[in-house]
Amino acid sequence: MHPLVQQLVSRGPVITDGAWGTELQARGLGLGDFPDAWNLTHPDRVGEVARAYVEAGSQVILTNTFGANRLRLGEHAAADRLAEINARGVEISLQAAAGRARVFASIGPTGKLLMSGEVTADELRAAYAEQAQSLAQAHPDGLVVETMSDLEEATLAVTAARQTGLPVVACMVFDSGKDKDRTMMGATPEQAAQALTAAGADVIGANCGQGVAGFVAICRRLHASTDRPVWIKANAGLPTMVDGRPKYSVTPEEFAGYIPELIEAGANFVGGCCGTRPDFIAAITQRLTAARAP
Ligand SMILES: [Zn+2]
Repeated sequence: MHPLVQQLVSRGPVITDGAWGTELQARGLGLGDFPDAWNLTHPDRVGEVARAYVEAGSQVILTNTFGANRLRLGEHAAADRLAEINARGVEISLQAAAGRARVFASIGPTGKLLMSGEVTADELRAAYAEQAQSLAQAHPDGLVVETMSDLEEATLAVTAARQTGLPVVACMVFDSGKDKDRTMMGATPEQAAQALTAAGADVIGANCGQGVAGFVAICRRLHASTDRPVWIKANAGLPTMVDGRPKYSVTPEEFAGYIPELIEAGANFVGGCCGTRPDFIAAITQRLTAARAP
């Protein structure tokens, strides 16, 4: 295990952050806008999101770099600013953390499907290597490969991320199949944990896709299938669309109520995905602090 991961998990559950996209939207990002470009145009507002999570108790925060890979950036005519968008994303989070939290830089899916031949494995490898190196040059504490639906793509991303020497978290979305316990391509938590462990990920996890209740069993199965720490970031339930925007009905307290169960099921890193906000992280912090008190 990477020494930093060892150090983080040795003191008990580690609190990560919540969603970024919805927080940026609350600060004026339009629904069709490309969030990562805000690292260059609105760094102050991106920094506010990062700082809000640190102040709510996040011990690990991510970066606004989820979509900053060549395949996705190309769609926004921003591919020439890839290195800058990634580096600024890390710098903004590091500055907001100011030594109070660790910064793990986010790497999301390319949005292109290997299975349909839309992209080749070599193109994915090159895109992830380029993004991982751009992020690493700004010195984050780690990298997070997240919201992955295709285990093959995730494995390529993990392999590229590992070339930086930074600790690598790898997490998949499990929200398909009749029990909502498979990736879009049909992989089980056991298959994912084994493949990502074999690819060398330091932490294995699940994020996004469904509400927190569904994550308890998935967490238990991931934990049983790997010797690596487990990372869980659930959504705040399933959204309903109100005026063209997703609205989440789960409250911070309801969400935080599941955290002890997740920890019991083997989660070492806990936070939230879509629909979760700094007040969700504050509720988790409060609950874990209360649990630690004598
Ligand atoms: Zn999400």
